[in-house]
Amino acid sequence: MITKGDYIIQLRSTKKSGICRKCGKVIRHFKGYDEWITIRHLPILGREVYLKIRPRRYQCLECDNEPTTTERLSWRDSGKNYTKAYRDHVLRCLINSSVEDVCLKENLGEKHVEAMLSESYFGQNPLDHISYIGTLGLDEIALKKGHRDFVVIVSSRFEGRTQLLGVLPDRKKETVLEFLKLIPDTVKNTINDVATDMYEGYLNAAKEALGESVEVVVDRFHVAQSYRKGADSIRKKEQKRLKKELSENDYKELKGLLWAFRKNPNKLTETENDILETAFGYSPDLKKAYELRNAMTDIFEEDYTKQDDIAAFKKWEKKVIKNGLDCYDSFIKTLNSFQSQIANYFNNRSNSGFVEGLNNKIKVIKRRCYGIFNIKHLRQRILLDTLGSELLFTK
Ligand SMILES: [Zn+2]
Repeated sequence: MITKGDYIIQLRSTKKSGICRKCGKVIRHFKGYDEWITIRHLPILGREVYLKIRPRRYQCLECDNEPTTTERLSWRDSGKNYTKAYRDHVLRCLINSSVEDVCLKENLGEKHVEAMLSESYFGQNPLDHISYIGTLGLDEIALKKGHRDFVVIVSSRFEGRTQLLGVLPDRKKETVLEFLKLIPDTVKNTINDVATDMYEGYLNAAKEALGESVEVVVDRFHVAQSYRKGADSIRKKEQKRLKKELSENDYKELKGLLWAFRKNPNKLTETENDILETAFGYSPDLKKAYELRNAMTDIFEEDYTKQDDIAAFKKWEKKVIKNGLDCYDSFIKTLNSFQSQIANYFNNRSNSGFVEGLNNKIKVIKRRCYGIFNIKHLRQRILLDTLGSELLFTK
């Protein structure tokens, strides 16, 4: 809405012709002006700018009833009260920001900003633009913290680029299968392998849609999440026990154990090392679990073949059993069901890391736009934040 201090620029069309809406021919017979329209444009010196124009009307003398047509303005989509340049400006502001914030700064309504995003490139289905997939990624994220209602992120990873292909409302096999079937055959043929989380539904959907022979790889990142969770469970349990059994002063010595325990062992400070040593003195099981966790990480660092790797897994599993630890039970179960897919990592290491980058970006979006529970909006925001700077800033 125009307020005091805004700039209003009155325009006059210099075009001498239009296109007949009926026959599509160029028409030059001038038939007067349309009503004034007001169109928001790029700001000048921090002020809002509005363009006012009366579009010209032309008459077709060749069509029946000699209809008139209003001229189209190339810099504005018909019916919109803002220019294309202004829409791109708003989208640039929206990158790494929230709709609320942009509304405030640009003096716009939420519906306006959302509509601009929907009608832009970022509102379109990514499958309509993709021609090469490479590695197809299937991952899940929980939209609300602590909730089990996952949405599935489908991505393409090729030559160091991760691109969003779709956001699915749930992780049911049928939902994933239905989406994979939408990928055009020519694009399907460009899929080298499928990188997934450890979940049967993904595995089965991928095989059904892409053929039994498709190589499915479990991302190292997901494997690490799983065994680290196991190690953390015994840390929690032992800390609880020690809190009861130790004197208040002795227990204080363990302050910071959580972070020291989770940290990369090569990056521990002296203090953190001391905390760990103290804790291990009280709990030999915790020490064993810690060492086995690090041993599993080391396996992934080795330059193994797939066969070497499966052997290393077996050896590791035996050690866990020999040590009588039950914190890795759930991980071992997963490891056994997905052994081949996990070991496929050693065939093609380039997969790892991609998914983590995209997931982190999505986490940031979730935190910033705490209201995004709508998967269509989420897809648009991910596309804008991942591709926006490239598509909206290079001219
Ligand atoms: Zn005509």
